[in-house]
Amino acid sequence: MSDSTATVERTIEQYKSGEHPTWCPGCGDFGVLNAAYNAMKEKGYDPKDMVVVSGIGCSSRLPFFVSTYGFHSVHGRTMPVATGLKIARPELPVLVMGGDGDAFAIGGGHFIHAARRNLNVTYIIMDNSIYGLTKGQTSPTSQAGFTTKSTPRGSVDRAVNPLMLALTCGATFVARGFSGQPKELADLMVQGIEHNGFSVIDVYSPCPTFNKVNTFKYYREMVRRLPEDRDLTDLGEAMRLAAQSDPLYVGVFYREEAPSFEDGVESQKSGTGADTRRVLEALFDRFS
Ligand code: SF4
Repeated sequence: MSDSTATVERTIEQYKSGEHPTWCPGCGDFGVLNAAYNAMKEKGYDPKDMVVVSGIGCSSRLPFFVSTYGFHSVHGRTMPVATGLKIARPELPVLVMGGDGDAFAIGGGHFIHAARRNLNVTYIIMDNSIYGLTKGQTSPTSQAGFTTKSTPRGSVDRAVNPLMLALTCGATFVARGFSGQPKELADLMVQGIEHNGFSVIDVYSPCPTFNKVNTFKYYREMVRRLPEDRDLTDLGEAMRLAAQSDPLYVGVFYREEAPSFEDGVESQKSGTGADTRRVLEALFDRFS
């Protein structure tokens, strides 16, 4: 549904706001921004027909650097904003972009419910396993033992696996990218935008200033493309691959066609009981 807006040939320059990113030199978020420009160009949306919603954090500054409509919202509250937007203007493509703290700590509850509702947005998480804006504290995706200002003797918490969380909560498009591979990342974003439902793309986006463990060098050695010729609807296989820590796979783990949240709302608004039943039956089938 988010793909319904008319598209034409456009240039990357048309998606740049003219504001220069304020990220540290070498920040992984530059690669994500470049991938987003390319994905927008590929889709060819008029910038005024697209919205980027973010939370709070270094990566959440991103709406300032694109010429689309943008909403730099409250920490962890991207999903309520995106949900309202999609209910009011379901035809608009919505990219949600922010960090791992925003998605899995402060916004963790919202993430779960957006996934199970199959909200038709593309959520791109710039995952650097640290809180950069507040100068280097352990985040939900920091590995156990990770040493920061907040955990000087090493974190005693285990890390959230974003893909496992998305898969178990019902997200219908689940992928992982790496900001050091912006071309492949742009392709994942295009696929996520074209998917009708909750698309999650967790992106390894290193923070060279505060995370000296999960660096570009580390990911270049660890990252591998997912095996080709897989059944992308095989949830068990997607979970098996998502659980692996060596290598760290990138690509599309899972894709499922299912009615989106907006489909259900639209069906109810149109008042046809048959349509509502069809959507509900499809949802019951998914989880039976
Ligand atoms: Fe990027 Fe880290 Fe600098 Fe924030 S602190 S802009 S995440 S390098």
